[in-house]
Amino acid sequence: MDGLLEGRACLEVDLPLAHMEHRRHLGFHDRRHMVYSFAVYAAGTAALLAVALSARVPQLTAREAAVVSLLALFVVLGELLPITIRRGDTVELYTFSSTAVLGLLVVGPVWIAAASLLPAAFLRDEFRRSRPMFRNLFNLARCALGLVAARTVYDALSHHGLLGSFTPHFAPGDLAPALVAGLAYFTINLVLVACVFALHEGAPAFSLLPEFLRSEAPMGLTLLAVGPVVLVALEFSPLTAPLCLIPVLAVRAGALSASKRENQALHDQLTGLPNRNLLLQRARRPTASAAGEARMVAIIIDIDRFKEINDAMGRSVGDRVLQTVAAKLCETALPGDAIARLGGDRFALVCSGVFDQASALEIGNRVVAALTGVIEMQGVSLRVEVSAGVALSPLHARDADALLQRAETALYRAKGSRRGNALLYDEAFDESSVERLTLMGQLSKGLDDELVVHYQPKCRLSDGAVVGAEALVRWQHPTLGLLSPASFLDSAERTGLILPLTEQVFRQVVEQWRRWQEAGLDLPISVNVSAANICDPMLPAALGRVLEEHSAPRRRFLIEVTETSAVTDLESAIRVLEQLRELGLGISIDDFGTGHASLAHIRDLGPVEVKIDRSFVASATTNERDLAFIRAATDLGHGLGLAVVAEGVETAEQLELVTEVGCDLAQGFFILPPVTAEALACWVSRPHVSPRHMHPPSQPAATQLVDT
Ligand code: C2E
Ligand code: MG
Ligand code: MG
Repeated sequence: MDGLLEGRACLEVDLPLAHMEHRRHLGFHDRRHMVYSFAVYAAGTAALLAVALSARVPQLTAREAAVVSLLALFVVLGELLPITIRRGDTVELYTFSSTAVLGLLVVGPVWIAAASLLPAAFLRDEFRRSRPMFRNLFNLARCALGLVAARTVYDALSHHGLLGSFTPHFAPGDLAPALVAGLAYFTINLVLVACVFALHEGAPAFSLLPEFLRSEAPMGLTLLAVGPVVLVALEFSPLTAPLCLIPVLAVRAGALSASKRENQALHDQLTGLPNRNLLLQRARRPTASAAGEARMVAIIIDIDRFKEINDAMGRSVGDRVLQTVAAKLCETALPGDAIARLGGDRFALVCSGVFDQASALEIGNRVVAALTGVIEMQGVSLRVEVSAGVALSPLHARDADALLQRAETALYRAKGSRRGNALLYDEAFDESSVERLTLMGQLSKGLDDELVVHYQPKCRLSDGAVVGAEALVRWQHPTLGLLSPASFLDSAERTGLILPLTEQVFRQVVEQWRRWQEAGLDLPISVNVSAANICDPMLPAALGRVLEEHSAPRRRFLIEVTETSAVTDLESAIRVLEQLRELGLGISIDDFGTGHASLAHIRDLGPVEVKIDRSFVASATTNERDLAFIRAATDLGHGLGLAVVAEGVETAEQLELVTEVGCDLAQGFFILPPVTAEALACWVSRPHVSPRHMHPPSQPAATQLVDT
């Protein structure tokens, strides 16, 4: 039992990877801690003095000498061969000397127990050089106090004499006093260590007693209960010594395997990081700051487009990405920080101290910068980007669970808006979630008559002919105005409104196509579908129904699927797209270049068109790499027999460039921004020259959209 308490006294911050272990602050926490420690030193010294003064050499028979020597040997071995156990967030050192210590205490005199226990304990502590001397002295003092108290109790109950007495014969009547003495030894040690530990943490002196009792009692009391049994066995014959070791070794093995199990339950097996439970345990632990109030920063980090990496490159690559990110997180964490993998591609870092909002955000951005970068894997350079949400206690939440929740809310916001940065929690985020829910309620009511579709033309670069139009949804909100798709599509996806929305947009598009056609304008129209749609087996049936209702010809409509959403759940996407193709709908890969789709993936999706994302077009005139990408994507598209569209052409220079590179079609504000169906028909009917000769003043005014 003595050893059980050793571990607690040398608490270390348990970070999962060995190189992350850091010692907590080692000095006295405050005056109470110092006064208490010195009181224990003084009492321990007095106890040792009493033991020394009572010391006399007993007259031993050969058999008694063998019993005493074996018990002393067991004490020394038990002290020098401790085990290290990670329990919760502490690294604990367990020794197994207490069984033999109790045997020696019963036999007496106490100096023999002290002479074997104290030097061995001191030597062991000294081997662990990182422990400061004052801690080692504290341990010796409490051991001495435990020995004296236990023998005093034994004498009070058995009348075998105090510290100096030698009582070699253990009779049945001595069993109960011996067990009570063992209990006293356990209690003294437990109380002394639990108090010093609590004072060291700045907590009330007895606050950790229940926790210590729960964790130490089972093993500590078992080892002590075996003490009298070992004594009887050795008295029966010293040859039973190897058998006496069996129960102690069994307890030792049990402790190790229990610790392993507990460790597994609290750690993520893939990365070795603590899991959410252990993180919460750590974060909930009261820490006293200078201001007397716990200050913590919680940062929740999520890898952008991780599912895509996993699906496109395989699980083993995904696992290695997670391990690399975990290792980088460990390197970024400072002593005292707690880190965890919360599940999937989500990680957390909690640091305590005194922080203001600016420094909290700075820590968040530092973590994001450290985790963002290129990982070389199987000869492929994989760019990993992360987003992070940051929350600060007590400003945003007072307890650990709520703090993590706030950081998670900030993370959602960070992912929804600008990736690649940390975002500090703001109360308005929660309000806006309520607003969003209200908005979705309104959308479900206004789905039939408030959705508006605008159209943007696609022009052939060789001759400027308008060869198609893209349908882009807007919501004419009764009070907020004309809302952009970014304001409501994400929420519609999350609330399951996206399928009825897509069906409604498609219905309007088919009706519009019919009206245009009747007016002599036969223009193929592209309709966008969301990530949630593309894996939804109900989508083909919904779109098929609309085509049938309007007996529309099949070959006049294209479905635009973003590259990212198509490869997120590739198998489902392939299935759904195949059914759409069977309906006669063409497939267009939208925003090409923003995801991780491979050539094989693109082919499997069976497209007729690929649209190069506008971010490449925007920087093509200034960035060589983006221009090279457009060139490569165009060659790839042509190689697969696809039409290549350059999206987001905003200037004459960009138009020139994408024409030279070989793109077939272009779309963008320079040609025409999205406009109403009537405005588009009007624009198309005007005589056109090549798009290269168009310029913005000839365009109808674009409608101003509102972003919520
Ligand atoms: P997208 O499919 O890539 O559509 C092109 C977006 O780029 C449109 O934004 C368009 O207004 C904008 N754009 C066009 N030319 C230029 C340009 O030269 N410069 C710049 N900066 N932007 C240009 P919008 O209408 O806000 O739509 C945004 C996204 O919302 C669309 O991206 C599409 O993914 C989604 N979306 C739009 N309508 C629908 C829909 O009916 N259903 C679904 N599921 N998604 C839709
Ligand atoms: Mg599109
Ligand atoms: Mg696009």
